[in-house]
Amino acid sequence: MRITAAVAREPHAAFTLEELELGPPGPHEIVVENVAAGICHTDVVVRDQWFPVPQPIVLGHEGAGLVVEVGAEVTRVAPGDPVVMSMLGCGSCTYCRTGPPGYCVSHYDLNFGGCRPDGSTALSKGDESIHGHFFSQSSFATHSIATEYNVVKIRDDVPLELMGPLACGVQTGAGAVINSLGVRPGTSIAVFGTGAVGLSAIMAAKVAGCTTIIGVDIVADRLQLAESLGATHTIDATTADPVEEILSITSNGASYSLDTSAVPAVARQAVECLALLGTCGLIGVPPAGTELTVDFHTVLFGRFVRGIVGGDAIAQQFIPTLIELWRQGRFPFDRLIRQYDLADINTAVADGESGATVKPVLVMPR
Ligand SMILES: [Zn+2]
Ligand SMILES: [Zn+2]
Repeated sequence: MRITAAVAREPHAAFTLEELELGPPGPHEIVVENVAAGICHTDVVVRDQWFPVPQPIVLGHEGAGLVVEVGAEVTRVAPGDPVVMSMLGCGSCTYCRTGPPGYCVSHYDLNFGGCRPDGSTALSKGDESIHGHFFSQSSFATHSIATEYNVVKIRDDVPLELMGPLACGVQTGAGAVINSLGVRPGTSIAVFGTGAVGLSAIMAAKVAGCTTIIGVDIVADRLQLAESLGATHTIDATTADPVEEILSITSNGASYSLDTSAVPAVARQAVECLALLGTCGLIGVPPAGTELTVDFHTVLFGRFVRGIVGGDAIAQQFIPTLIELWRQGRFPFDRLIRQYDLADINTAVADGESGATVKPVLVMPR
């Protein structure tokens, strides 16, 4: 099948819109006609080779669309089903059997390998093989090949052009609060970085009943948005010391904190602002080899620091929950989104990286 896709061919270079051939689905694979796909910071850092991912490749891991074809052994979805595509786990390792796919022992190969588990790729351009299967979808394209295991069938009365970001950024922020930290009503949380992930965490903290929700950023517009989405306090880190401010607001430190920045100095502040027995979640993704230092005594006195992948979410359960909260007006993640045509992907990426847009979403040509 002929498709149009945005191809990443070189680090730090623009995505190029190209006509590609998409091969047929394997036995447990499906073809999804994409309606839209969110852009996540991870797409950009993968293009720029923060970690080794083969190129040329079609990226995109927040796709939403309609199933148009299914492989011979697919039972979980059928043509016509609206789906959101999330990450893939192997389904059989110790971690997949007991928890979310973010900790699958094969997580990197399955989601960042640029090919199927058997090494093949469904994408080509003439004689040139194009890497794909990024997060088992490569959704910066009019069509994707996913598997029946990494898609979430959603209700058919919600706009698919808004649903893609639930697959990664929104699920990561909200899941960290609800699933990983398990925040309790009446507690306090400090969220460092109020991009799409941090704002999703703030909305989830409000849903969970946190009574002190502190947003920290260096962009005034973002802090205003944070307040309108549930932050009870905001701190502009360009003019105030976040740790001092948080200790003052909470009297003795925050019950929970999240770092979405992946900047070591900021992550350290997220640890230092905690109350005794408080927990800091690290959910940003730094370049490979980045080190984090914290004061030994700060952690010694009962504070927890833990990394979180994908909000510890089992997408088939969590995405429908977030959609229900959205329908009830309690989780307005659509306010983070600005839509762009697929052809304008480079503008969308630039706006996302500069902060002009919180969550760019590519809408596919019809
Ligand atoms: Zn696994
Ligand atoms: Zn992502």
